[in-house]
Amino acid sequence: MGSSATTRSPMYGIVLRAIEYFDRKKWLQALATTCVSAVSFTVLMKLSLVLLFGNGIAVCWPMVGLVTAVMLKLPRRRWLWVMLGIVFGHIYIEQAYLLDEMVVDTVSDVAEVMITAYALPPFANLSEWMGQRNLLLRFIAFPVLLGPVFTSIPVGVVFSRELHVSFWTEAKNWFSADALGIVLWLPLALVVLSPETYALFRWPALPKTLGVAGLAVGVGAMVFGSRPLPVSFVVLPALLLVAVRLGFSASVLAVNLLAILGAIATLHGRGPFAFIDGEYRIIVLQVYLAMCMLSCFPVSIMMMERDTFERELREACDSMEQLATKDGLTGVANRRRFDRTLSVEWSRAARDKRELGLLMIDVDCFKMFNDCYGHPAGDRCLQSIAAALAGEAHRATDLAGRYGGEEFFVLMPGTDLAGALLVGERIRRAVEMMGLQHERNPHRVVTVSVGCHSMVPQRVGVSETLVDGADKALYLAKAGGRNRVEAYEGLADGRVSRAVLAAGS
Ligand code: GH3
Ligand code: MG
Ligand code: MG
Repeated sequence: MGSSATTRSPMYGIVLRAIEYFDRKKWLQALATTCVSAVSFTVLMKLSLVLLFGNGIAVCWPMVGLVTAVMLKLPRRRWLWVMLGIVFGHIYIEQAYLLDEMVVDTVSDVAEVMITAYALPPFANLSEWMGQRNLLLRFIAFPVLLGPVFTSIPVGVVFSRELHVSFWTEAKNWFSADALGIVLWLPLALVVLSPETYALFRWPALPKTLGVAGLAVGVGAMVFGSRPLPVSFVVLPALLLVAVRLGFSASVLAVNLLAILGAIATLHGRGPFAFIDGEYRIIVLQVYLAMCMLSCFPVSIMMMERDTFERELREACDSMEQLATKDGLTGVANRRRFDRTLSVEWSRAARDKRELGLLMIDVDCFKMFNDCYGHPAGDRCLQSIAAALAGEAHRATDLAGRYGGEEFFVLMPGTDLAGALLVGERIRRAVEMMGLQHERNPHRVVTVSVGCHSMVPQRVGVSETLVDGADKALYLAKAGGRNRVEAYEGLADGRVSRAVLAAGS
């Protein structure tokens, strides 16, 4: 078995060794992180410049959101190498820029990435991440507002001079594109990196996903595909439906889809913003998309919190139910569980006309055991007997537990008297064979007496008859000398017939 790796293929071994080597060599990891970061940043930056730039304004700037999402997944010690990759990417793309432009652009991007990465918690999976305290507040305060505001000042100063526009125009364009880029692309990248998202597209969630998402896309297409009419708000109920029914991942995907739809429609003179003049239509679209995203965010967080609360409540109820029905000392079922199960099984047996068997088990001379060895030893003895009992009640429907004090029970649906006697004897023998020393017991070891009874219930609601019968049989076993199994056959005249199966004495 151990040689399966070597028998697979020589390639497999080489890859394994390469991974091990990579794990050991920290400098190699740093180099790889920088290279991957530089190449992907360069490619994405080129794409963004081609697709999202028009008239000198970017509709949104996705780089900060994308890079930070990846960084939140990486350990902090590798952040420096990602940053270095970004710097190289900028230098490559902006070779033709003036030096101060290149420096300001690069430093601003790096500063925004650092502010975002330090402000947000590390990312493992979406539900854990979304459950972090004050996440929305931190998200809006640092990545969305502080980062873009802070960097828009040097950018405004340098680029307004170079491009001969006002400082405010340049700073405002930078701020809106960067803030929107973070609002849209950071959640999108995290959603793509989260395995939970893919559950939406697997059975059994798929039909619901397709239904709700289809409706939202349909509404979005209708609003943005039509002639210019100021009805952008029609999309909001559809987005809220996505947030409530499908959660955060789906909302992020829906808003991003809307962003693409909205950008294409608005630039082609369609949709609710097409009647707005010039560059303002882009700004209004940006604000609109940011508002859509920021409306879905809190609703999804609330829905996620509700789900978590519901799950925790269910778990708490389950554990309380466990505590309420379990005996604290021995861990087997307690008297409450016995009463509840007896009433259910009694009704079931009466309905099905089937036998219901019961054993009542009492430890022999237990008071003397306590007197002799002390109560803690007595407790341990009860725990051992409970374990032996649980081990002998084999059937899934059997219920073994502690009735109270040093008395135990085994309730056995579908078991007649002969079967009950058999189990009773197994238990008696198992306890005796444990060989727990008991000086004051005639057998020199701990023993139990067992009373058995079984009946087909005739009337619903008088289950005490079964317990009475088993008690009477137990009394017989005690009277007969202990360490015995006796049965009560419930004769009509109330006499007790002795069916001694085993007698240790
Ligand atoms: P018999 O053979 O007739 O059953 O005699 P016995 O001594 O077992 O019966 P008795 O009812 O006189 O004594 C039961 C003893 O069980 C008394 C009590 O101190 C002890 N006992 C009950 N519950 C516990 C427990 O949780 N832990 C310990 N250590 N002892 C217990
Ligand atoms: Mg007793
Ligand atoms: Mg006893």
